[in-house]
Amino acid sequence: MILGVLNQKGGVGKTTLSVNLAASLARAGRRVLLIDADPQGSALDWAAARQEGPLFSVVGFPRPTIHREIAQIGNGYDHIVIDGPPRVTDLARSAIMASDLVLIPVQPSPYDVWAAEEVVKLIEEARVYKESIKCSFVVNRKIANTAIGRDVGEALSAYPVSVLSASITQRVVFAEAAGQGMAVHEVEPGGPAAAEIEAVTAELMELAR
Ligand code: ADP
Ligand code: MG
Repeated sequence: MILGVLNQKGGVGKTTLSVNLAASLARAGRRVLLIDADPQGSALDWAAARQEGPLFSVVGFPRPTIHREIAQIGNGYDHIVIDGPPRVTDLARSAIMASDLVLIPVQPSPYDVWAAEEVVKLIEEARVYKESIKCSFVVNRKIANTAIGRDVGEALSAYPVSVLSASITQRVVFAEAAGQGMAVHEVEPGGPAAAEIEAVTAELMELAR
């Protein structure tokens, strides 16, 4: 599976989800490559902060030619996760074209719902060339027991893109783990954050089939 995690809005959780989904796929015994397509290099920073041995490979590739080079870069890997860039449209377009499945993280906020229009448009444009690209929203930073978490699903239904039934809650462990270059399942084995990541991974694998 080539999974692109994209949204031109910054701070929605692209890098957080990319590293944890890559870790979850690697934990299942697959060879995983994480491509950091963000010029900011946050996934590379995550890997550099890590003290333990690597869970998966990480490479920086902030160039708009990912779609042409992915076969070569990703040779020998079972799964590739692309941590997408904010803003830069040509990079995002290339990352979308490289993907089998595009995951769009959105926070439960009307601003995120509105901002998602941009990435949905890019995916529709990319599908003219590559019809097989699949995509789905995932709600990230859901706040437990609030209506806004449910409302966002409803607001997103205005787009022709489905929303994963699994979602990710706002949890301090996501930031804590990131600071140590770790996945949430390493910091809190069997914890609720790890369980949510596993549920998203399972749903994505099903979608990508
Ligand atoms: P992006 O890559 O889209 O810019 P990040 O993954 O860097 O977004 O996330 C932005 C900030 O939000 C980071 O500080 C990250 O630790 C925090 N964050 C993301 N998702 C969660 C979550 N589910 N719970 C708590 N903090 C989160
Ligand atoms: Mg990022």
